[in-house]
Amino acid sequence: MELIFERSRAGRGNQVLPECDVPEYKLGGDMLRAEAPKLPEISEGDLSRHYAALARRCHGVCSGFYPLGSCTMKYNPKLNEKIAALPGWNNIHPLQPDETVQGCLEALTIAEKFLCEIFGFDGLSFQPAAGAHGEFTGLLLIKAYHHARGDFKRTKMIIPDAAHGTNPASATMCGFTTVTIPSNEYGMVDIEKLKEAVGDDTAGLMLTNPNTVGLFDRNILEITKIVHEAGGLCYYDGANLNAVMGVVRPGDMGFDVMHSNLHKTFSTPHGGGGPGSGPVACKDFLLPYLPTSVLGGSGNRPDSVGQVKAFFGNFNVVIKALTYILSLGAEGIREAAENAVLNANYMKTLLAPYYDMAYDSICMHEFVMTLEGLKKETGVTAIDVAKALLDEGIHPPTMYFPLIVHEALMIEPTETESKETMDEAAQVFIEIAKRARENAEDLHSAPHTTPIGRPDETRAARTPVVRYSFDA
Ligand SMILES: *Cc1c(COP(=O)(O)O)cnc(C)c1O
Repeated sequence: MELIFERSRAGRGNQVLPECDVPEYKLGGDMLRAEAPKLPEISEGDLSRHYAALARRCHGVCSGFYPLGSCTMKYNPKLNEKIAALPGWNNIHPLQPDETVQGCLEALTIAEKFLCEIFGFDGLSFQPAAGAHGEFTGLLLIKAYHHARGDFKRTKMIIPDAAHGTNPASATMCGFTTVTIPSNEYGMVDIEKLKEAVGDDTAGLMLTNPNTVGLFDRNILEITKIVHEAGGLCYYDGANLNAVMGVVRPGDMGFDVMHSNLHKTFSTPHGGGGPGSGPVACKDFLLPYLPTSVLGGSGNRPDSVGQVKAFFGNFNVVIKALTYILSLGAEGIREAAENAVLNANYMKTLLAPYYDMAYDSICMHEFVMTLEGLKKETGVTAIDVAKALLDEGIHPPTMYFPLIVHEALMIEPTETESKETMDEAAQVFIEIAKRARENAEDLHSAPHTTPIGRPDETRAARTPVVRYSFDA
């Protein structure tokens, strides 16, 4: 496919600005660029086709099933977009006097109230722009808490081996040393190992519950108690609350601070770099440390960890989440979580005769299959199955995560998929399992219909080429 620069023809389609109706002002020399920017010149029609063609090459929740575990690719109602696009939210400036943006501040206050109710916490900051950013901010709170008490020896952050990769990364960025504890055979925190790991150097524990294999850790109250008794604080990675919202609250599980991804659970589009929102919520004793633009007066927070993003973070994302919460209501929030769990268990049951499950128990909002056996038997790997799904218009599940499961495929259908969609998708998975036994070669070379098949994943991630080179 030609790039927009390659479609450019000098002088074409650039008469878009109206005649200038104010006196011209000549900028000084040092404010002018040496060379004119090389903007593509293309007619509006060709431009429109170009982007439509690009969009067709992307897979989104509006193009097909997207069971990307841990990412909650649920359908995001268009109503959210409509409300977030209202001029009252959009045509404002963050430096406007507070009295002129009371409606916007009220919306933030209401969103804070609802989210704190769902989380079981006392207050929050909307500043963090994503989940990992929220983790970092929340850990800063934990650090500030220990330091404020003159306790500088608490430098260790305990993280189970099932954790999302962002957890150890955030802890390290925050200056903590991470202590990894193994999960037991049920994918849960190994209580004995946790007891051995805690001590007077424990700053805290980071935990996801339900964890990344989709299981709810029943020992959660004991886990948080062990950490508290050792003097540490408990951080809840609530990126994905889809299984528990309206059912149980992280605040009631004994956690002190958490983040949640509005761009997963609370139905705002994600992927492609955002914008997202990962508000950090905490118990009242941590409120003084929240980032500065917390609602209810920003000025006098001498103990705040500071600002982690400008103003109130990604405001429109909060509006989308608020619209979602208001349109579902308390009952609807709970029902969404229950249906997310029901759907995951339905698909798990459909696939269990054909794929090995990493854990037999009833799952929460997602489940993990292990293709280790299939690989031994046929040579077909998790990535082969993932690639074959692309040919069938299905986005692959999360692959090779969590790391504690070999040849992992993690499936999260979400509550917004119908029984019919899940039945059809399960049929595709089942066909692929059959093909693995009949014609493994065909799966090794999949996908056969996509513009790109199997790029070098390391190079694609480490050295992506995202800039057009005019000289090449
Ligand atoms: C997605 C996710 C994160 C990170 O969120 P980002 O917004 O991508 O930074 C952290 N933890 C878990 C469990 C997640 O699923």
